[in-house]
Amino acid sequence: MRFNEIAEATNGMVLTNYSNDEIKSLIIDSRKPFISRDALFFAIAGEHHDSHDFLEDQYAKGVRNFVVQKEVKIGSEANIILVDNTIKALQQIAAKHRSLFKLPVIAITGSNGKTITKEWLFTCLSPFYNIVRSPKSFNSQVGVPLSVWGIDKAHNMAIFEAGISQSNEMQNLERVIQPTFGIFTNLGAAHDQGFVSREQKLSEKALLFENVNTVIFNGDDNHIYSKFSIKGFCWGYNDRCDLIIINVDSSSKGVLVQLQLEKATFELKLPFTDSASFENMMHCIATMLYFKIGKEDIQERINKLLPVNMRLELKKAKGNSYIIDDTYNNDLGGLQRAIEFLIAQQQKSRKVVILSDILQSGLPDEVLYNQVFEKLQAAHVELVIGIGSDISGYQSLCKQPAYFYNSADEFLDQMGQLDLNESVILIKGARVFGLERVVKSLEEKIHGTVLKINLDALTNNLNFYRSKLESKTKIMAMVKAFSYGSGSFEIANLMQFHRVDYLGVAYADEGVRLRENGIHLPIMVMNPSPDSFESIYKNNLEPEIYNLGLLDKYLQFLNGREGSIHLKIETGMKRLGFDEDEIDNLIERLQSNENLSVKSIFSHLAGADDGAHQQFSEQQADKFKRLSSKLIAAIKEKPILHLLNSPGILRYPQFHFDMVRLGIGLYGVEAGKTEDQKLLQPISELTTIISQLRTVKKGETVGYGRKGVAKKDIVVATIAIGYADGFSRAFSQGKGFVWVNGQRASVIGNVCMDMTMIDVTDINVEVGDQVEIFGNNISIIELADAIDTIPYEILTNVSQRVKRVYFTE
Ligand SMILES: *Cc1c(COP(=O)(O)O)cnc(C)c1O
Repeated sequence: MRFNEIAEATNGMVLTNYSNDEIKSLIIDSRKPFISRDALFFAIAGEHHDSHDFLEDQYAKGVRNFVVQKEVKIGSEANIILVDNTIKALQQIAAKHRSLFKLPVIAITGSNGKTITKEWLFTCLSPFYNIVRSPKSFNSQVGVPLSVWGIDKAHNMAIFEAGISQSNEMQNLERVIQPTFGIFTNLGAAHDQGFVSREQKLSEKALLFENVNTVIFNGDDNHIYSKFSIKGFCWGYNDRCDLIIINVDSSSKGVLVQLQLEKATFELKLPFTDSASFENMMHCIATMLYFKIGKEDIQERINKLLPVNMRLELKKAKGNSYIIDDTYNNDLGGLQRAIEFLIAQQQKSRKVVILSDILQSGLPDEVLYNQVFEKLQAAHVELVIGIGSDISGYQSLCKQPAYFYNSADEFLDQMGQLDLNESVILIKGARVFGLERVVKSLEEKIHGTVLKINLDALTNNLNFYRSKLESKTKIMAMVKAFSYGSGSFEIANLMQFHRVDYLGVAYADEGVRLRENGIHLPIMVMNPSPDSFESIYKNNLEPEIYNLGLLDKYLQFLNGREGSIHLKIETGMKRLGFDEDEIDNLIERLQSNENLSVKSIFSHLAGADDGAHQQFSEQQADKFKRLSSKLIAAIKEKPILHLLNSPGILRYPQFHFDMVRLGIGLYGVEAGKTEDQKLLQPISELTTIISQLRTVKKGETVGYGRKGVAKKDIVVATIAIGYADGFSRAFSQGKGFVWVNGQRASVIGNVCMDMTMIDVTDINVEVGDQVEIFGNNISIIELADAIDTIPYEILTNVSQRVKRVYFTE
């Protein structure tokens, strides 16, 4: 489509029109670092982030085509369309694009399993069709139009997923996807908040299938059956189903399922045994049968299914590097997303991409690799390593420094000659290339215990607190103590990406580390000691000043140079802060030292997490208001005022002032123990492995001090975590518990320095199995309660020798 056609499809008003460009890509994220001339930028106005504010930057980066919802002026060569709502316009354009193609379009919706079903269906159908599908889990109001935009002439089938979180969203997605065939995965509790009832949620989701001929679903579910039986092709145990499950025989190796279709019975072997995978596989089998694929082919395709890992994992690598592990598959959409994640990692400026051939793109190879290399060039990748004969064949198109190899083995042989230090390395390849071996050889070795940090959960939690603030209220993200044990600049980097206003650290060293790793946000240092003034000053950090003595020392150090400071006032915590009787002297110092710039004035509540202290907290707030007003009246500047930590943000909306200091909530814990805990996601998962198993006879003892006594014959597993890793010794003798293969297991005997023994008597385990210490099954709050401490301590105790892995879904 050309610019003029786009303007027509959106019914928008053309504000300026320099040239009628052909539009090839659609962009919605102003942080996207690389842009091509033929991109169309949609300025989306979110509650906290309005990309209309960044249009000049986009223009400077080379964007010339814009869709906006506010009247704006950009550069002289800009083409601008003004519409009422840019998201709606994006959907209209995608809908127009969709209507240009006639092909079977499978839409997948439901509560769980959409992405896996889509990926598996792609594996099942790809030998028979040229398929375009949603990248990763692009299923939202903006993700769906971006997916649909990917259809082109070469495709003869499309598979898109659609997800909604509230009422009135599905119709839009239906208009964009225009599906001809549907799969309804299941109806669970996900996103229940957005709907009045389950019924309403089902009805809303069903709107996606208004115009399709056939819907595949689980016919044993009465709700779903009543909704879709008319146009259903359903599977299940019930006789009313089209595809009837006669018998299921499970063993540890897999599942043998006996099925009946139109009176004929047949058997299939399924590679996964868990119930969620079973459901996903049944959807795929029913779809293949519907599309008349033969039973032998079905069996062969099912054998090819692999666990879907949709995560992009950031791991520490040798040579002070990081790797982004994306070795599950390789397609253009996914490549784009992986490169974005690569660019977002500002810890190291040197970016390296290791990339395999891209299979089944539906594009002619030359066009394909031209696009691939353009993306790498636009992203300023400093070194490209191509693996496979196709990509090697087009190496002349690559503008970046590059090396090419025919196979992963060839590359592994010669890898030692390349400099892969001090870099962020994206490793992306289709499964058949086996690039996971490259990941293995670059990865730092671990001793089995890993803290995994979910960057999406972190974003979710940040957004949750943002939703509680007025848009003008600033956020200081507290990243002290290695971001509450979760890392340091990795978390700060994400906060910077999401444009929080300030960072808070405890010590100057922590701030210096952040500066060394590309963090340019303002940083407040809460415990500045005089011997750190020099590094504070040099690294543009801002000290908290909490009494006259410290102030005088800092003034002396500055010796007339300019400096930014934060003033802490004591209102009841009795920790750090100017006392009331120091305020007059403080004012006098500030008035006579104009080189000092007071960035903010703040205080801290002693009991924000507990309603019992409400009256005391209100008194603290009153005192804060009184003393800060007095200070502000006496100085020329208008400093930022802030009082609240995470639990305070939720309990005292009336005391948000200009900024809040968000700590533990970001890391997934509502310290005030309110219902809001449900809306936060745990950001970290601490896991280890089983090192050894043994039977212990009745009466024998386990561990130091012989504190664990077997009351009957039991099975004991030794796991690779101890108090030196942060698994407190207080968990000894049954106080602590871990999660193994779907069940809880108690600690037996005393926790040792590097190891712990657990009782796994009735649990099916093997050496090497993963053990969760905390995460999705055992919460940090529960663990803290078990040993009478607070979640803060559990989080920050995880020792630095435990390897951190960061991932995004
Ligand atoms: C650590 C800290 C916070 C953050 O507290 P949370 O309860 O983790 O949100 C806020 N303010 C100050 C002064 C702190 O030291």
